[in-house]
Amino acid sequence: MHELMLVDTLARPLRNLRLSVTDRCNLRCEYCMPEDEYVWLPREDMLHFEEISTLADLFITLGIDKIRLTGGEPLMRRDLPSLVQMLAVKPGLSDLALTTNGVLLAEQIDALRAAGLGRVTISLDTLRSDRFVRLTRFDRLDAVLEGMTAASRAFGSAEAESLRPRPRSSAGGGVVPRAFKIDSVIIRGVNDDELVDLIEYGKSQNAEVRFIEYMDVGGATRWSRAHVVSRQEMLDTLARRYGAVEPVIENSSAPADRFALPDGTLFGIISSTTDPFCSSCDRSRLTADGLWYLCLYAARGIDLRRPLRGGASREELTALITAGWRERTDRGAEERLALGGERRGFVPIENLRKDPHLEMHTRGG
Ligand code: SAM
Ligand code: SF4
Ligand code: SF4
Repeated sequence: MHELMLVDTLARPLRNLRLSVTDRCNLRCEYCMPEDEYVWLPREDMLHFEEISTLADLFITLGIDKIRLTGGEPLMRRDLPSLVQMLAVKPGLSDLALTTNGVLLAEQIDALRAAGLGRVTISLDTLRSDRFVRLTRFDRLDAVLEGMTAASRAFGSAEAESLRPRPRSSAGGGVVPRAFKIDSVIIRGVNDDELVDLIEYGKSQNAEVRFIEYMDVGGATRWSRAHVVSRQEMLDTLARRYGAVEPVIENSSAPADRFALPDGTLFGIISSTTDPFCSSCDRSRLTADGLWYLCLYAARGIDLRRPLRGGASREELTALITAGWRERTDRGAEERLALGGERRGFVPIENLRKDPHLEMHTRGG
């Protein structure tokens, strides 16, 4: 436990930072980047690795012990292993992870692992090439599967698991999550017939599969309630195929509810849409240009780049972060759920064009 634990207005600690290193992406997933054109963050605004490292130090002092690198596609950021190396050695950081679409992973995995990356999650929604092309607009399933094989070798083996430190803030019991995960967004009529295939594929790669409910985040302009497959529906489908599915009892702030199949296979479901976990949410997001968002659905972020580049002292930056978290009231997904039948896509396209920070691919999913 941190000496002086910083909590928000709902007593939620500051613990988890998702660090977006770029807003660029080499795929165009239907549920994240469905448009033909985007407004990109100016290159000169991108934080340099030294600036990210400085901010990471401050966040760690204030309670962050888990950092996840994300984007956009984080592997498109040049020389990512150097950033991993800078972060991995920070005392107080017990978990350094990466979320990637996997396209560029095979060529970078050894350097990332050697630099100190602790865990990797690959996003993959389908195992069928034609579907992959329809969902992402690129014919790159083979590259992703190569990335999977590489990740399985580097992070999925029993030896890799045994070498991994257990994150401090997940010390509440339960089964330690695997170092290699596969995240799949499940959409009705698109890939909801692949739950079993994805579980079986995960088993073959020593990866824990997590199914994500389709969310109405900024950028998901084609979202509709009818496309959401709920956690309960997913559990029913898996129980029909495998028999009784048991919940894993654990005391954790992780977003996924975890379950076990009769053969012991573990998997997770992130039910942000039908049963959000805002009440225990300890995560915030830093965009590649240094805006700090306290919620996935927050309309505005706190600009840390300007004061950082303007010469603000460590104390001034610490005060800015502390005040921001202390005043945090956000529970975006719960508020979205409360809209009931009136719920539509979250941000209209005109607004996304005016402020690209509203996009999921900018604020780091
Ligand atoms: N490009 C990387 C990737 O795809 O893993 C990292 C960034 S991506 C924005 C992070 C995660 O957000 C991915 O797992 C993606 O599936 C998820 N995501 C994006 N849009 C979503 C949506 N509308 N609903 C649920 N999850 C979404
Ligand atoms: Fe897909 Fe991730 Fe790129 Fe979004 S950022 S389009 S989820 S690969
Ligand atoms: Fe946390 Fe906001 Fe997501 Fe709720 S909607 S879980 S508060 S990031």
